[in-house]
Amino acid sequence: MTSGKVYLVGAGPGDPELLTIKAARVLGKADVVLVDDLVSRAILVYIREDARVVKVGKRGGCQSTPQAFIERLLIAEAKAGRTVVRLKGGDPFIFGRGGEEAETLESAGVEWEVVNGITSGLAAASAAGVPLTHREHSQGVVFVTAHAAAGKEPDWAALAKSGMTLVVYMGAARCEAVQCSLIASGLPATTPVVVVQDASLPRERQLRTILSRLADDVIAHEIESPAIIVIGEVAREQRVTRGSLHSASAS
Ligand code: SAH
Repeated sequence: MTSGKVYLVGAGPGDPELLTIKAARVLGKADVVLVDDLVSRAILVYIREDARVVKVGKRGGCQSTPQAFIERLLIAEAKAGRTVVRLKGGDPFIFGRGGEEAETLESAGVEWEVVNGITSGLAAASAAGVPLTHREHSQGVVFVTAHAAAGKEPDWAALAKSGMTLVVYMGAARCEAVQCSLIASGLPATTPVVVVQDASLPRERQLRTILSRLADDVIAHEIESPAIIVIGEVAREQRVTRGSLHSASAS
């Protein structure tokens, strides 16, 4: 029997139109699809009707499928000759544990390939009309997690001094710590911030504020996960799009 292959596929931020053509094509030929819970249902229509679909929850705080189980299943199905898709929100290689899965597949001798997705940090910024780089205001952009493994926290002091736009993932419940660390490291309290919940989906919400009000406003406006926090000069006075909430003190 010929051995199968595992595709680590990015489903994008939620809007099915932001799925790549390649992702749709690969979904259409898979025998087995392991789906993360951040993936929109509307994207599942691309899966073959007779494919086996396994839902593997990974949402913070909820019961999640152990990573070891997921990796064992990927290997077993591929070794049985099947075409397997591991479908993840956004891009598989941005905070999606795609790197760990690729390493495991590689050491198990299983063929694998990544199919890019639009990461939610990009989608959130675009939804808010915020360019992540700008010749005048930001020479680069950093994708950073607010929820790192113990002992692996980002160097917020270095980031505060970098002058780069910060795109913070997994920050909805941790914005107070992010705000305090950045201000303590010298980032001005008035630095513009945009928070986008459910970017690219019909229920998308945006909050525009400043760094010193971030945590209070997130609570006041009941912003919840999944949300992206964009921090930097590029977030100032940009075009306001649908569903935007303004913090009184930021306007
Ligand atoms: N691989 C994913 C990120 C997974 S980590 C990607 O590339 O986008 C999960 C975090 O992604 C969430 O806590 C949130 O910060 C962000 N996220 C995912 N989907 C989102 C969406 N539609 N809107 C805003 N943030 C989102």
